[in-house]
Amino acid sequence: MSLLSAVEMAPRDPILGLNEQFAADPNPAKVNLGVGVYFDEDGKLPLLKCVQAAQQQLLEAPKPRGYLPIDGMAAYDQAVQALAFGAESEAVKAGRIATVQALGGTGGLKIGADFLKRLNPSATVLISDPSWENHRALFQNAGFAVDTYPYYDAATRGVRFEAMLQALGAAPAGTVVVLHACCHNPTGCDITPAQWAQVVEVVKARGLVAFLDMAYQGFGEGIAEDGAVVQQFLAAGLDFFVSTSFSKSFSLYGERVGALSVVCASKDEAARVLSQLKIVIRTNYSNPPTFGAQVVATVLNTPALRALWEEELAGMRERIKAMRVALVEKLRAAGVTQDLSYITAQKGMFSYSGLSKDQMQRLRSEFGVYGVDSGRICVAAINGRNIDAVVKGIVSVM
Ligand code: PMP
Repeated sequence: MSLLSAVEMAPRDPILGLNEQFAADPNPAKVNLGVGVYFDEDGKLPLLKCVQAAQQQLLEAPKPRGYLPIDGMAAYDQAVQALAFGAESEAVKAGRIATVQALGGTGGLKIGADFLKRLNPSATVLISDPSWENHRALFQNAGFAVDTYPYYDAATRGVRFEAMLQALGAAPAGTVVVLHACCHNPTGCDITPAQWAQVVEVVKARGLVAFLDMAYQGFGEGIAEDGAVVQQFLAAGLDFFVSTSFSKSFSLYGERVGALSVVCASKDEAARVLSQLKIVIRTNYSNPPTFGAQVVATVLNTPALRALWEEELAGMRERIKAMRVALVEKLRAAGVTQDLSYITAQKGMFSYSGLSKDQMQRLRSEFGVYGVDSGRICVAAINGRNIDAVVKGIVSVM
């Protein structure tokens, strides 16, 4: 028997599998709401104007392609810190945040997970129930036992906040708690600033380690509003982790631009943490790629491009909100009488539609409308041309 002959076929990634099924569907009216990607009103992946302008600048001053430092481009790491924590924040000014460039938000989570595993190998990681489908696998793959804390309440289509708080309050010190900073994936249900304050309090009181996953900053209410939870953790004087992704906010999915930041107690501590993060990176992929980070740093550090980015990001945010409103209006017009306010209350790209697995499968087979079996649909993939087909399908399976 050879080494590889007994290798078993791994299950397909559920979302990528859905994309393959969508591609193979001959229905000309098919709509893909399974993806976690923002499409514009024409159903196209946008190439932001600010990105094009930065790209143009980079092309006009071509540079040789040397290696970046292990922790990435300094201008990029600084821009990430300024965006996530505020350039004027005491922690940034004191130099007590260790930030490294990462391969998307996933890369930031993975570097953090590997580092945490070295620090506290017996810790449990808690993720929300439900969570982004990769959270569990990623932390398990880093060697952690992964459990959940209560989050979504199907009955109220909201958050089981008391149960969540209780679970965090019962977790042993050192437990790593993965929190969606905004625009919860997959449910779209976020907790309020007052509820965040309670979470911060219990994290502090119990000695938990907060790991904020910030993959959608700017897609909920605005850059500052969506990042407000970071300020709450800073104000509490806690050590915590933040993974940043620019995949969605810059529509730079394939360039893999993200970061990990670790807020430390002092500059000296941050230097020691940074040295360990660099070992994690060095032994995995040595150093990160240049292009995406150059684009993002150029945009964030050039006032005119920064303003253009904020405008374009607001445009994406507003379009999603408009689709939520239109979805509710059209469902109403089609005779749906149940409470639909949850659709407009949800934040970010996704809506947990409340449809069952059977209903989602019928949507796919009978109407060519592809969502995830959990009932998650991507509102950011709805547009004026496909919305009627989506509504017709939903109403029919409801
Ligand atoms: N966290 C969450 C909650 C996400 O939804 C995603 C992307 N779908 C990521 C992390 C990963 O982002 P990236 O594509 O930048 O790796």
